[in-house]
Amino acid sequence: MNSAINADLHCHSVISDGTLTPEQLAQRARDHGVTLWALTDHDEVGGQARAAAAAAAVGLDYLTGVEISITFLGQTVHIVGLGFDAEDATLWHGLQRTRGGRAQRAQEMADDLARVGIKGAFEGALKYAGNRDLISRTHFARYLVETGVCKDTYEVFRKYLTEGKPGFVEHRWASLKDAVSWIRDAGGLAVVAHPARYKFSANEEFALFTEFKGHGGQGMEVVTGSHTVAECATYADMAQELGLAASRGSDFHSPDESRVELGALPPLPEQLTPVWQLLEARIRRAPDPAE
Ligand code: AMP
Ligand code: MN
Ligand code: MN
Ligand code: MN
Repeated sequence: MNSAINADLHCHSVISDGTLTPEQLAQRARDHGVTLWALTDHDEVGGQARAAAAAAAVGLDYLTGVEISITFLGQTVHIVGLGFDAEDATLWHGLQRTRGGRAQRAQEMADDLARVGIKGAFEGALKYAGNRDLISRTHFARYLVETGVCKDTYEVFRKYLTEGKPGFVEHRWASLKDAVSWIRDAGGLAVVAHPARYKFSANEEFALFTEFKGHGGQGMEVVTGSHTVAECATYADMAQELGLAASRGSDFHSPDESRVELGALPPLPEQLTPVWQLLEARIRRAPDPAE
């Protein structure tokens, strides 16, 4: 188990804002050379049993996964959980509570888009949501592409749905402490997802990692589809300085939208401790094909 294995520990299915099923993702991960996989739907573990079964069927080692939305110093931050017990009741109820405000928020987003002349966005977005409880900005983005308002989802997030732009609605997610505790108490390891994506000052970022570690967080996503090569290097150094294990994941959502394919990332820098080294006992090994 070293940093050279092709681990992809971050992607989304139709159960959150991806466009493929857990079974299609497992097959696609395998076809692209992944050997250790985790499905990390937003705020939802409802796809975990299917993902684990699909992984076993195509010969992938599997870690349970989730990507929890939290609010920290006024910004949305994502905490990935890996290797937890997906049946854990506290985690399940916590996630259910986190999902709770999404329908109301979606309605407010649609109302705000209507003010700039974009009609029918609630129903339009809902059409793309495989899981109604998980209606997200990604589903709105697909509707804005479908209706020709934008040419792709990247343009959507430049012009709409983000802070200060039409369709953005402030939302209060879980707390950092809750998210990390749910994951840890369910036997898993918490990871700060794509740290370069946040707009924190150096002091705020330091506070994020200090509090995260204080609550028992142990990992940082270093190699992710959301980071440039330079950002990977910056956060590799930071992971080492802070004594955090490193994770690797594409954040794949859709063949049509994602710039980074499953498994198609550089390896973790060798000096880092991969999260999967700490999660050895939590990996569900693919059955030996000879047996
Ligand atoms: P939500 O959980 O509803 O706030 O939606 C967040 C999701 O929107 C993320 O998980 C991404 O899939 C997508 N997203 C957010 N911001 C961007 C962005 N700037 N570029 C592309 N996708 C984004
Ligand atoms: Mn997403
Ligand atoms: Mn994320
Ligand atoms: Mn993600």
